[in-house]
Amino acid sequence: MLVDGQAVDACLMMAYQADGAVVETIEGLADGALHPLQESFIEMGGVQCGICIPGMILAAKAIVDEHPGATADQVRAGLAGNLCRCTGYTKIFSAVAQAAMSPRLTKPRRFLVAPAAPRYFRPRSLEEALEILAARAEEVRPLAGGTDILVKAKDGMESRAALFDLTAVPEIRGIQEQDGQVWIGAAATHTEMMRSPLVASAAPALPAACAVIGGPQIRNRGTLGGNLANASPAADTVPPLFVADAIVEVASVSGRRDVPITEFFPGPRQSVLARDELILGVRVPRRAGVRGTFLRLGQRQAQAISKVSVALAIIFHDGRPDWVRVALGAVAPTVVRARETEKALMAGGWDALQRAKDAVRAEVRPIDDLRSTAEYRREMAAVLLERAVRRVAEA
Ligand SMILES: Cc1cc2nc3c(=O)[nH]c(=O)nc-3n(C[C@H](O)[C@H](O)[C@H](O)COP(=O)(O)OP(=O)(O)OC[C@H]3O[C@@H](n4cnc5c(N)ncnc54)[C@H](O)[C@@H]3O)c2cc1C
Repeated sequence: MLVDGQAVDACLMMAYQADGAVVETIEGLADGALHPLQESFIEMGGVQCGICIPGMILAAKAIVDEHPGATADQVRAGLAGNLCRCTGYTKIFSAVAQAAMSPRLTKPRRFLVAPAAPRYFRPRSLEEALEILAARAEEVRPLAGGTDILVKAKDGMESRAALFDLTAVPEIRGIQEQDGQVWIGAAATHTEMMRSPLVASAAPALPAACAVIGGPQIRNRGTLGGNLANASPAADTVPPLFVADAIVEVASVSGRRDVPITEFFPGPRQSVLARDELILGVRVPRRAGVRGTFLRLGQRQAQAISKVSVALAIIFHDGRPDWVRVALGAVAPTVVRARETEKALMAGGWDALQRAKDAVRAEVRPIDDLRSTAEYRREMAAVLLERAVRRVAEA
């Protein structure tokens, strides 16, 4: 469905989170006549077994609303979160491309609706949110985009009734310049970070990571705070924050504290957050001339958890590395900074890349699991490191 014009997974959103928003579903698309997208899907043979089609058409509507006359790349990127098991993507892409040129496409309608849900579920200020947490720390759990915790709630690992929604707390939203640093609110979505020039300038690996998280529906809902609090060793925003020397801002009713990102995860699936604490945001220092990238390997390009990921940040001086950070995800119990690899890159010389690849193989501690073998992860960490260095050096 579309919420305020953005594609989201309906199964990963609580109904009260749509309070005050414009919700569009397939049932409302035909307005007297079929929508140009529906006509185009029929005409181009895009409707195959039919199961994925409502989702495809709604995701396509978000694309053509935002990019009238969308390019083939925009269509592919916008549909990346929707899987077609008939594997008939060509007809679907053609249908959307044709509809994108339709003169009958109208501007999306927008309504302003006053929120009416019970306040208990949606605190309207940080103070209120922290008070709820302090009073009910053992009982309630924060809910941001819901793309992790609602999956757990469906599996019975969390209680839906105990969730309280952070999306109306203004103090944790936005991305801003603050005292020479870039501040990213905990409620910033992956889509917002991916599109932010401020984030790109201070932490260039971060938008690259956000751009490959899930698909558009997940990126439109999933937040930075949720990705950090979930504390997965495969969380894709974490390696970019390691190489940006980020500081996580945390608060409870008792006060605020700053935690360097490298100290935020004491173990696998663990963070230093207490039950009554919230992540407010992350600060990233600005470094002149910093370049960076993020590369990962998953089972497929969209909707896949990383098997191995590499984030790199470098400042070059007179063509030589003057400052280097390397971090890896999914190859150890937590995200790790690869200090020996950094030293090898800093040392320079004709064989610096080879020595850095040897160092990274020695520094990672991967495991065998459902998604990959330890041996493959170790080798791919070295391969991704080389690709990342070449990409940044040639940029
Ligand atoms: C189909 C699919 C694909 C995905 N693909 C990827 C991927 O490629 N890469 C990746 O890294 N992740 C992926 N994820 C996981 C998820 O989307 C991300 O981790 C996302 O950033 C979680 O953010 P959220 O706002 O949805 O968190 P929520 O689900 O709302 O919350 C997650 C946890 O964080 C806590 N929390 C949220 N905000 C705060 C806060 N401000 N302070 C304290 N605690 C807080 C919640 O209580 C909960 O424990 C995927 C998930 C799905 C369902």
